[in-house]
This record gives sequence, structure tokens and C-alpha cells, in this order.
Amino acid sequence: MSFQQLNLIEPLLKALNDEGYTTPTPIQQQAIPVILERKDLLGCAQTGTGKTAAFALPMLQLLCEDAAGVTENTRPGGPRPVKALILTPTRELAIQIDESFAAYGRYTGIKHTVIFGGVPQHPQVQALQRGVDILVATPGRLLDLCDQKLLHLKDIKYFVLDEADRMLDMGFINDVRKILTRLPQKKHSLFFSATMPPEIQKLAATILVNPSKVEV
Ligand code: AMP
Repeated sequence: MSFQQLNLIEPLLKALNDEGYTTPTPIQQQAIPVILERKDLLGCAQTGTGKTAAFALPMLQLLCEDAAGVTENTRPGGPRPVKALILTPTRELAIQIDESFAAYGRYTGIKHTVIFGGVPQHPQVQALQRGVDILVATPGRLLDLCDQKLLHLKDIKYFVLDEADRMLDMGFINDVRKILTRLPQKKHSLFFSATMPPEIQKLAATILVNPSKVEV
């Protein structure tokens, strides 16, 4: 199986070639077709399996498809709203995921940024105001910026909850629930967790609609 066989578009194939990736990992082989069909996904996978590319590549492709359907004449005014949100528990993971979007998306024109706590918010707010398609975030800083009305999540079309079990372990589950109330009801959701204890299964059931399940 090759990345071409997964029907990825040329700008992504070119970036994968730059990265030196030749073969999709098992999670990528299973998840990419499901996501490209715009189906919700429940993924049981750990870090190190190639999970990030498994969601980042098809999300970039769907955003490119969406952008192709919007001409300059029909695009509403104002800074472009965030369309895709990736929630992850730690600053380190957030930075890694954002770097993955930079690498895989370098030929797509899709804009991304990352926000996390423990650092001044001003540069992050400035980056958001320049307009981004994809936002990678930790829960606390995201809620903080939403509460300050510096960011809204009304136009989110794609939502990824990454490392859901660690969100629970680190005490972020209530923040995640609060964020969910700010997202549109109708969206394309992807849910990843290394383990699926009952509380995580319950959370997944509140987010996902008829999900395809992928386990590696
Ligand atoms: P992740 O599980 O997303 O943290 O990815 C683990 C590591 O595998 C990262 O360093 C990626 O750059 C790398 N990686 C992801 N997919 C592939 C692939 N198909 N071929 C080679 N390396 C990969």
C-alpha cells in the first residue's frame, strides 16, 4: 500500500516525499480512507504509531477540497475563521502536531497555528488574528481566549480530540466538555485514545455520530 493508493492529493504526496515517508503506517492505512469519506472516527492508538499524520493528512485534504468550492467572490469578509480544531493535553504534543501540519501542509496554502498555556497570550492572539484554518490547542488556553472573546469556535467543521484518556488523567475532562458546548452541533469529529475506559467511551459516544472504529 502506498500513499498514492490512499488517494491523497499531489501537494500532500510531494510533502510526504520531502519527509521521506514511503509507506503509510497501519493506522494511516485504516484511518485516512474513513476520514476522506467525511465519516466520524474512533481511533484506539498510541503516540508513535503515525497517528498524527493519520488525521493531519486527510484534514488538510478536506480543507483543500472545501477551499476549492469557495471563490473569492463568495468568501465572506473579515479574517478567516478557524475551521478545524485539534485539542491535545500537553504543550509538547500541541507543538508536535502543529509542526506536523507545517510539514505535511507546506504545499497546500492551509494556515495553522498553535496555542497553549504558560506563556504570554499576545503572540498567539496575533497569530489568530492573521487568520488560520487549523488551530491546535490545549484546553485551558483555548477556553481562556474564548472567554475573552478573542476567539470563537462557531465555524468549526472538523474537530479532533487527541489522547482523550490523558485528558481525563490530567483533569481536563471538564474543560473538554465546556469546549464541546461551544462547537457547532454538526461537525466532522475524530476521537483518539490509547485506552478506552468506560468514561472515555461515554465521552466518545457524546461526540461521535456512527463512527468507524480503528484499532492498532
Ligand atoms: P506519531 O505517532 O504521529 O507521533 O508519529 C510518530 C513518528 O513517526 C513521527 O516522528 C512521524 O514523523 C513518523 N511517521 C509518521 N508516519 C510515518 C510514515 N508513514 N513513514 C515514516 N515515518 C512516519
